[in-house]
Amino acid sequence: MSNLGLVKLKKGKESIIKFRHPWIFSGAIDKVENVEENGQLVLVSSSNNQPLAIGSYSFYSQIAVRIWSFDISSKVDKSLLLKRFNSALELRKNIINRSETNAFRVINSESDHIPGLIVDFYAGYYVIQFLSAGVEYFRKEIIEIISNQSDCIGIYERSDSDVRIKENLPLQTKLLFGDSIPEKVLIKENGICFGVDIQKGHKTGFYLDQRDNRLILKNFCKNKNILNCFCYTGGFSAYALTNGANYVVNIDSSAKVLELANENHRLNFISDDIYENIEADVFKTLRTFREENRKFDIVILDPPKFADSAANIQKAARAYKYINLLSLQLLNHGGFLFTFSCSGHISRDLFNKIVNDAALDAGREIKFLSYLNQSKDHPILSSFPESYYLKGLLCYVN
Ligand code: SAH
Repeated sequence: MSNLGLVKLKKGKESIIKFRHPWIFSGAIDKVENVEENGQLVLVSSSNNQPLAIGSYSFYSQIAVRIWSFDISSKVDKSLLLKRFNSALELRKNIINRSETNAFRVINSESDHIPGLIVDFYAGYYVIQFLSAGVEYFRKEIIEIISNQSDCIGIYERSDSDVRIKENLPLQTKLLFGDSIPEKVLIKENGICFGVDIQKGHKTGFYLDQRDNRLILKNFCKNKNILNCFCYTGGFSAYALTNGANYVVNIDSSAKVLELANENHRLNFISDDIYENIEADVFKTLRTFREENRKFDIVILDPPKFADSAANIQKAARAYKYINLLSLQLLNHGGFLFTFSCSGHISRDLFNKIVNDAALDAGREIKFLSYLNQSKDHPILSSFPESYYLKGLLCYVN
């Protein structure tokens, strides 16, 4: 293959390839040859020149190579991208019931073997994040593939994630295909309607990764009083209130997302006297509720990422523990806690420990009824533990 650069690994670093982990950090590299462009394709070889894999090289990121293929005869081009796109869609066909749900993740980066690419589908609109130099290199081909999908009305780029800074790529958001993007794209998820602001909402507009967990909540809500902390646009609340919940209190620090939560409740014919929105800091509000001796039957805790690097794990663990402790104190006996961490750096074991520690401090006995995970359209590649980021627990609280 022409224009293939060469990345030679240091002695002993071949194990990365053996274990099929798709990242090569700069520290594992002995030398780089013939790479002129950021994101260019490279052949990865062992210290004794044995060819091992094909990847993309980034000049700037610590993750110097992201691997496309461990088969060195494969050609990384538009047809390979199309094949991977189609096999990702095939998986989604099996896990998404399209008559009930028309918003889901199509490409989940390394887990779908397109390292650095996120593609979410919202009722005809594709939202893309190019998060690595390697996929930026194939920008044109990727846009062509998506715009050729028969259900594509528009493509919007949300490459405004900080991850791009590490790749020395500019942050940008723009329309890539189609006439325009509606201010709110109307989607349905398990039959429940939501308006999604794909241009300005968080991430690509909606937390699709919580879909499966929202569905689990649905079965616990009947006649319950529920506190939904960090509610964003009311995802969990809309499920609860359309499934028999008695009353829901939504808390979020952003007035804008609460306004959208109101709209989403209205879309599902939820009367405004069975819920309230509190625009405030969750930490402070939980403390106030404790002082007021307020009680709930279910508390949902879905905070933003507290640990954005390994260096922050301890600090994040303290924050997770604190909100879990306060929430447990607000729960009636026989209540349920749905608690989450979306920090990739917080492992499953650590998260379980944090919640157990919170229970010990709160003097409450809890039972882990289910381990909750990111929805199935955000698959976890077994050789790539970094792809497992969203952990949750459904706890029974005595
Ligand atoms: N559970 C939501 C997603 C939560 S995203 C869903 O299913 O859609 C996290 C939310 O926490 C964001 O809406 C953000 O505005 C809010 N947030 C972040 N820090 C906060 C704080 N200290 N207090 C209250 N809300 C906060």
